[in-house]
Amino acid sequence: LSRLQQGLEKTRKGFVTDLLDKFGDDPLTPETLDELETLLLRSDVGVDATDQIINALRKRLNEEVLDSKEGLRFLKEQLCKIVDQPIKNSGKTLLMPSENSLNIWLIVGVNGVGKTTTLGKLANLALRSGFSALIAAADTFRAAAVEQVKVWGERSGVSVVANETPNADPAAIVFDAIGAAKSKKIELLLVDTAGRLQTKNNLMEELTKVRKIIDRLAPEANVESLLVLDATQGQNGLSQAMSFAKSANLTGVVITKLDGSARGGVAFAVSSQTNLPIRFIGAGEGIRDLRPFNSFEFVEALLA
Ligand code: GDP
Repeated sequence: LSRLQQGLEKTRKGFVTDLLDKFGDDPLTPETLDELETLLLRSDVGVDATDQIINALRKRLNEEVLDSKEGLRFLKEQLCKIVDQPIKNSGKTLLMPSENSLNIWLIVGVNGVGKTTTLGKLANLALRSGFSALIAAADTFRAAAVEQVKVWGERSGVSVVANETPNADPAAIVFDAIGAAKSKKIELLLVDTAGRLQTKNNLMEELTKVRKIIDRLAPEANVESLLVLDATQGQNGLSQAMSFAKSANLTGVVITKLDGSARGGVAFAVSSQTNLPIRFIGAGEGIRDLRPFNSFEFVEALLA
């Protein structure tokens, strides 16, 4: 088993073993499709994506008989298509930042989803991929957050720009961090942002303020807002995505805790319902447990 397959073990169990059982050795029939539909829905694939898959399969079955192997291959193609569509629509093929220019990635998400961990893993992944990186600890609302970011910075070997004052202005930290990034010719500036949900409007205002500072100080920068979603939250994560997508100018999604969840199918729901490309996936607490998302690899790991 590959590391990714191991990480996806819990999702694989429900999703795949049942699926493969359904497919069995017999040709696919309309009845199998009904069961398949239930299975996909139960695996958090979501109504839209499930409809898309089932309709495509039904259409294909009207044209020809598919044996289980062909059926599985067709299913994989459909699953890939669903997660690839937003990536195509975004016009971006880059999984890592562009070289020799300043990239600023805002990491956003609700507390507890794995935002800080993801930021640390991203910093490390950037370094391992040959990019220079810097972290801005702009989640100043939670006292522990700055400390946590510093620990990840040390682990990753990436400097952290922070302000110890409680409730320091996140925009001011981003201001300092952009200055430092420019003088050091940093390629990737990762910005941790506050994730409290109770005061969502303030959070959005805070993000807007940070965006304004970036636009003023680094208009040339390639700015991304990556939403971190916790796979274990299933459909609940999806509604978070919808509400963030409206106001946070999101450019992509990172799905975390795929290892702790049987709900990896939510990746398909997120893609089809938000039209946001999945950029990275996390499947473990270790620093190396984050990888650029690759639809083929993901679907193969799920259905191998
Ligand atoms: P934040 O509040 O969103 O910044 O969340 P944290 O980064 O502090 O993470 C919350 C918890 O989730 C921590 O215990 C992390 O170790 C854990 N975590 C984060 N990502 C993953 C992952 O991909 N897999 C697993 N199993 N745990 C994770």
